Amino acid sequence: MSNRAPLSLNTRILALPDSRIPRFGPQSARKLALALAPVSLGKDITSVSVEDLLNYLPARYEDRSSMVEIRHLYHGLEASLDLTVRISGGYQVRNRRSFRQRLYKFEISAIDQQRTGRPVVVWWFISGARAHEIITYYSKRLVPGTRFVAFGTWENDPQRGTYSLRLNKPDELELVAVDDEENEAETDPTLAAIHVGRRVPIYRKLGDFRTKRLREIVHQSLGLISDQVIDETLPADLRSRQKLIARGDALRYIHFPAEDAPLDEYHNARSPAHRRLIFEELFWLALGLSVKRGKRIRESKGAALKIDDAIKKRIKSVLPFKLTEAQRRVVKEIFRDMKSDAPMNRLLQGDVGSGKTIVAVIAMLAAMENDHQTALMVPTEILAEQHASNIKRILASSPYRVELLTGSLKTADKKRLRAAIAAGEIHAVVGTHALIQESVAFKQLGLVVIDEQHRFGVMQRAELRARGMNTDVLVMTATPIPRSLAMTVYGDLDVSIIDEMPPGRTPIVTKVFADNATDRKEVKQLLAREMRAGRQVYVVYPLVEESEKMDLRDATRRYEYLRDKVFPGFSVGLLHGRMKPEEKEEAMHRFVKNEIQILVSTTVIEVGVDVPNASVMVIEHAERFGLSQLHQLRGRVGRGAQQSYCVLLAADKQTEVARERLGIMEETNDGFKIAEKDLEIRGPGEIMGTRQAGLPEFRIANLVRDLEILQAARKEADYYFNLANKSPEAARMIERVQNDVRMKLAAVG
Ligand code: ADP
Ligand code: MG
Repeated sequence: MSNRAPLSLNTRILALPDSRIPRFGPQSARKLALALAPVSLGKDITSVSVEDLLNYLPARYEDRSSMVEIRHLYHGLEASLDLTVRISGGYQVRNRRSFRQRLYKFEISAIDQQRTGRPVVVWWFISGARAHEIITYYSKRLVPGTRFVAFGTWENDPQRGTYSLRLNKPDELELVAVDDEENEAETDPTLAAIHVGRRVPIYRKLGDFRTKRLREIVHQSLGLISDQVIDETLPADLRSRQKLIARGDALRYIHFPAEDAPLDEYHNARSPAHRRLIFEELFWLALGLSVKRGKRIRESKGAALKIDDAIKKRIKSVLPFKLTEAQRRVVKEIFRDMKSDAPMNRLLQGDVGSGKTIVAVIAMLAAMENDHQTALMVPTEILAEQHASNIKRILASSPYRVELLTGSLKTADKKRLRAAIAAGEIHAVVGTHALIQESVAFKQLGLVVIDEQHRFGVMQRAELRARGMNTDVLVMTATPIPRSLAMTVYGDLDVSIIDEMPPGRTPIVTKVFADNATDRKEVKQLLAREMRAGRQVYVVYPLVEESEKMDLRDATRRYEYLRDKVFPGFSVGLLHGRMKPEEKEEAMHRFVKNEIQILVSTTVIEVGVDVPNASVMVIEHAERFGLSQLHQLRGRVGRGAQQSYCVLLAADKQTEVARERLGIMEETNDGFKIAEKDLEIRGPGEIMGTRQAGLPEFRIANLVRDLEILQAARKEADYYFNLANKSPEAARMIERVQNDVRMKLAAVG
């Protein structure tokens, strides 16, 4: 036997068999490492460690400190019972739903250790082709005398005069005497005490490892680690300020709650152990972001801008309308950044239709007044075209030249345009990704605006910087997320918010319709009425990747149907991503010029497009869209003073999704509320597309649930960041963050 190194958090799982965990050999270690790797922030199986195992947190906890006795059961009680099998076996029951598919019931009759009442029944259904095999398997494992723990809601079974418990899966049973997965001999009797008579963690199945086996391995590992080898990563004064328990204690208690700990705190992830570990994770992230931001503040962009009254006056003279109070405020914030030596890195949030474009134009004008070139990047060609023509119109009377640069330009035109940009003859360039992907050379680039950031992800911004464009950057998004969340999602951005709509808007009326003849007729009448009043209509189809072709066919067919059968008296157009750029542009232009009354489209029109005369947005298969996307789409209408409508067609409006998600759309027009709901339903990673947005993955923290802790962690991070020159401890902490690979990832941008 090799000499046993003392166990530490850094001990690799593959090296664990040298320690004294019963029945944990090299094969088990390999299996465990394999299962842990994908949930350990991208580590591979050779590097996953005991720490990663301990970071695999229980999904819930069960209080087995006092196992309930049969005599204390009552109908509806949720409780654990420590039982012994008397009889077990399966038999066929009738299946109402299908005659062909047979349904079996597996039943265990069992009694508690002290035999305090009549034997209880634990049962579950088995079906499918292998039902017989499965029954045989369980009959062999659950022979009379087998001890197990069963947890769940017990029900009175009047026919038998006893209590019964229905399981969804037999996994929910925990055998105390026989091990679940490795088919080895009896469990070490000393291990039995881990599972009963205390509060126990319940884990989600991890690879082949079920809750019971994981509990044993975690318990044994914790037993082999002495508190001395668990490094405290947070300063003592921080811990006492924030009332955080020691790291070692947290790692122990998060798996095995103390006898007197309130379990509901555990279930809400608010136990002292949870708080401590969540805080730790968020604190290091926040410190990393502070460092990143501090670096930018110390950077210089070459020349600070001059924005004096004369310039402001000139800008004001081209504005087509009076700015709202909110627009004025964010312009002020942007100007402050532009006038400073450090490069601006600001996120402008504002609900769809809140008027972000004009703010961008103002910032661009300020830069151009300082002899800088500017670039506006947007996610789609259609949007680029629209922005370009808008800005051209606004700047028509100014000396500045605005051009559109997209991937679909002819090579010769592109070449000419790039030469003109390099020569500084073009002052504002509007384009798609092509702008950075084709590394356009500017003579004197001073400001980059990125519109509809939620469609971009953060990487492009990082790319900009990587290409030496150390300019002012203004990022705009209509995905309104809480400010503190934005900070972590978008790296080290400063945040401005437009929280006010331009005047004269009438709230959009949103209604869910079913996909049936009656409802469709009502929708048809609405469309006809609006079009007769001179308004225009969008009809949007989802485009899901795996069946793109089919969806496209749907949209095309629907377009033909609407054109030929439903609205022969109106002009119907089609727009989708697979069309040639000229065709797309043509369709869009005809819609803008009101030559098309109904535009049937895929989600290519989701972002940014602005046709104030459009008053109805019909969304087909609305149940397939996420909330934020629905809100974006709805934002295409309601841009003028007239009443606008959003029609959500759901295949079946009685489904859960339709009722819940679409119901929220009916209730509110407030993008913030919708984003919060979306966050609740899908989680931040989903919304932002974790990778794409550069949102760090968390092991324990959950940005929605833990916003409050995040705020406290940010405050502490700022405190230590500002202390860096005075305190060696703070300096060490910052060094640690800079060396942390994860921080590099998290601070993208
Ligand atoms: P978004 O924030 O979604 O990009 P836009 O910039 O496209 O919104 O603005 C939406 C509409 O509101 C546009 O038609 C724009 O001209 C108009 N608008 C913006 N600001 C004002 C304002 N202060 N007063 C009146 N109309 C405005
Ligand atoms: Mg916009």
